[in-house]
Amino acid sequence: MRKLAAGNWKMNGLKADLAEIAALVGAHSGADCDVLICPPATLLAPMAEAAAGRIAIGGQDCHAKTSGAHTGDISAQMLKDAGASAVILGHSERRADHGESDADVAAKSLAAYAAGLTAVICVGETEAERDAGSTLEVIGAQLAGSVPEGATALNTVIAYEPVWAIGTGRTPTLEQIAEVHDVIRETLGKAFGEEAKGMRLLYGGSVKPSNAEEIFAVSNVDGALVGGASLKARDFGAIIAAL
Ligand code: PGA
Repeated sequence: MRKLAAGNWKMNGLKADLAEIAALVGAHSGADCDVLICPPATLLAPMAEAAAGRIAIGGQDCHAKTSGAHTGDISAQMLKDAGASAVILGHSERRADHGESDADVAAKSLAAYAAGLTAVICVGETEAERDAGSTLEVIGAQLAGSVPEGATALNTVIAYEPVWAIGTGRTPTLEQIAEVHDVIRETLGKAFGEEAKGMRLLYGGSVKPSNAEEIFAVSNVDGALVGGASLKARDFGAIIAAL
């Protein structure tokens, strides 16, 4: 399966940073994997223009509805209209900062499918959940609640992001990553049959040039969702090269 390097810029990036995208497109348009950058909404349209279809652009969230009285929100259709082909949903920062539930994430995913966007659905345990030995249970429940019926290999990517590994420089062991990714594949298989075999499973949480290669070699890791190290073309380029 074709691997995916996805960058999540979070609440970072001004017009001046579009130069990073130009550099990335120039250096990696022939990459042997898919490349997706999810900038803040303000940069979606100019970034899509700069990328000129050579790398994909995505949103970081969308509303479950198509339009209406929802001040400050953005619909999946609007993301598509601005040039996005994907959207990150259920990131742990949205789950924590905005109280998003699994049901919210499932509803948003359906909105993404309806708009023709690929949903990058995030799951991951907190440190307390890992310490309590409930990681696999937590991931199973998040998958069951967040990934809606109608998910296919084309419209859905799953990102496993342990909350305690995000932005901390700490990563799980390769064995721990393999264990969770194998269980995700198995769980999706039970729900979606053959389709699950083609769904890409990304690892996210403190991926950087120095650990990318070993993480990408883990079974059922089909790419990465990268935060901090996706902001600079040089770092993200090195991660893409490791794929
Ligand atoms: P990080 O973030 O790479 O900065 O740890 C990953 C993410 O939250 O997607």
